[in-house]
Amino acid sequence: MSTGADRSWGVIAIDGPAASGKTTLARRLAEELGLAWLDTGAFYRAAALAVLRAGADFGDEEGAVEVVRPRVISQEGGRTLLDGEDVETEIRTPRVTEAASLVAVLPGVRRIMVRMQRRWVEERGGSAVVEGRDIGSVVFPDAPVKVFLTADSDERARRRLAELGDAPEASAVRESLSRRDRTDATRTASPMRRMPDAVEINTTTLSPDEAAGRVLALVRAARAAE
Ligand code: C5P
Repeated sequence: MSTGADRSWGVIAIDGPAASGKTTLARRLAEELGLAWLDTGAFYRAAALAVLRAGADFGDEEGAVEVVRPRVISQEGGRTLLDGEDVETEIRTPRVTEAASLVAVLPGVRRIMVRMQRRWVEERGGSAVVEGRDIGSVVFPDAPVKVFLTADSDERARRRLAELGDAPEASAVRESLSRRDRTDATRTASPMRRMPDAVEINTTTLSPDEAAGRVLALVRAARAAE
């Protein structure tokens, strides 16, 4: 099996709730396999930032779509760009985090996001490690490798707290995670769910290396079966 950049890999789809380890895993896999890495959550965050900046109402789908449609959202070198502006830091603030799950319930906005994400992967030869909530179900339903990551909620809150520099209340972080999970899993448009052909990996007690090793084994098996 080649481990270098290979246009025929296709998409490795990594879905799962917030702080389940998607980004750590996706980055490692991308590095190991010489593939591009796409964080689709960043697209929803950038769309939410655009809506916030425009002062538009998240309850007004048409208004939000009007704001988002002309925007160009992309990712380069792990940085998220909104109309060419590096918004990577701003989209990680609690305000934008909460807004992202509100904009993500709007089907009109999702359609725009899915189009941009597919185009991003196409522009990179059709092969990438793509993380999100609806990658295996909607964006790339034919992905040859699909993973659904989980982790216990206490462990996810612990990870998120460790990431956040300014030491917010643990209870507030836990609440925010469970509120987002609930919104993501119960929305009508492309709810987060494990597809029957996705392999569930619980990362609670796994090191990043162990998690990556499991997915690399799946990739090898998928390649061998071709
Ligand atoms: O992954 P991240 O936490 O950065 O995603 C931010 C929000 O974007 C999620 O809470 C979810 O509402 C939304 N999202 C989505 N579909 C994706 C990726 C993210 O709905 N593929």
